[in-house]
Amino acid sequence: MSIRLYIPGPITVSDDTFRAMAQGMIGHRSKDFVALYQSLQPGLQKIAGTADPVYLSTSSSWGVMEGSLRNVTAKKVLCCMNGAFSDKWFDVAQRCGKEATALRFDWGKPVDPDAVRKELLTGQYDAITFIHSETSTGTLSPLADITAVVREFPDVISIVDTVSSFSTVPVSKDALGIDVLISGSQKALALPPGLALLSVSERARQRAATLTGRGYYFDFLEFQANHEKGMTPSTPAISLIYGLSHQLKRIEEEGIEARYARHLRLNEKVRSWGKRRGFQLFPEEKFGTRGLNCFANTRNVDLDAVNKALKSQFSSVIDGGYGKLKGKTFRISNMGDETDATIDTLIGALDSVFSANGA
Ligand SMILES: *Cc1c(COP(=O)(O)O)cnc(C)c1O
Repeated sequence: MSIRLYIPGPITVSDDTFRAMAQGMIGHRSKDFVALYQSLQPGLQKIAGTADPVYLSTSSSWGVMEGSLRNVTAKKVLCCMNGAFSDKWFDVAQRCGKEATALRFDWGKPVDPDAVRKELLTGQYDAITFIHSETSTGTLSPLADITAVVREFPDVISIVDTVSSFSTVPVSKDALGIDVLISGSQKALALPPGLALLSVSERARQRAATLTGRGYYFDFLEFQANHEKGMTPSTPAISLIYGLSHQLKRIEEEGIEARYARHLRLNEKVRSWGKRRGFQLFPEEKFGTRGLNCFANTRNVDLDAVNKALKSQFSSVIDGGYGKLKGKTFRISNMGDETDATIDTLIGALDSVFSANGA
């Protein structure tokens, strides 16, 4: 029996998804592939709230997170940092040789739009990165407020990571004027890792056209040229794309609004369990993200012992904190294909294990 993963990525992949992935290969320049690729666009565009293409990148999300910096940063990028992934993005910008400024917020705090405006007003920037749902701290930043500020600065291209929010809460790329929207397969889409999604505005592509050093693998213009033929620049992870096709059908069947409602309901369920056991949410409640909960380990539970017991007795695991929050927080995912039944089962298991460990 496989272990059910309640860590916030990778998460549990359903058997029907695995079955959908187990199909014969097709040539990535074949008509069959073009039909498959094109069939995915409406579903992906709907979730992203965009009329722009959604490119498929055979990489984890970091591939396109790094690639986007290379495609749009000519002058300087403002990196908003409020957790492990957004902190790392600043590091990655520097490793790409880009001029970058770190706009730091305490871990567990959302990105503050006023602080963003203050920094952009210096006029040094032509790009900004921030993470909608900072998975390391379970914090959801106010997307519409931040993008409203960025729109005040027409030269600034926005790169927004929605890796752990995509399909859990509404995201309207076009209405918010987001230039580059990024997601990945192994979070709420409940696929195995290895596929990243990237939607790029026309003005971001125009910027890319003026820049050298974009490389090949993550070049926006290569993605676009191939997209126009219903293809990807290089041989894609076709099995994952079969899985994506299956998941998009599933999302269509459930209805996107029902999907958001399910994520909210299951998220609240886990949140109430945590409160009942005396754990505070790590971020302020109103900024808690909806695909997972990050709790402060206020009762000093031995999280390694908890996970060991969860795994051996209930074939499940949660996350014992990420980066500098290891041991100080724990995170429980409710993303993807979870249901009331699976979350109720998890809560029963958590109750048993936490009680046995003195909490
Ligand atoms: C998981 C995650 C990433 C990194 O994704 P990889 O697939 O490991 O590259 C980036 N950003 C956020 C917010 C994430 O949750």
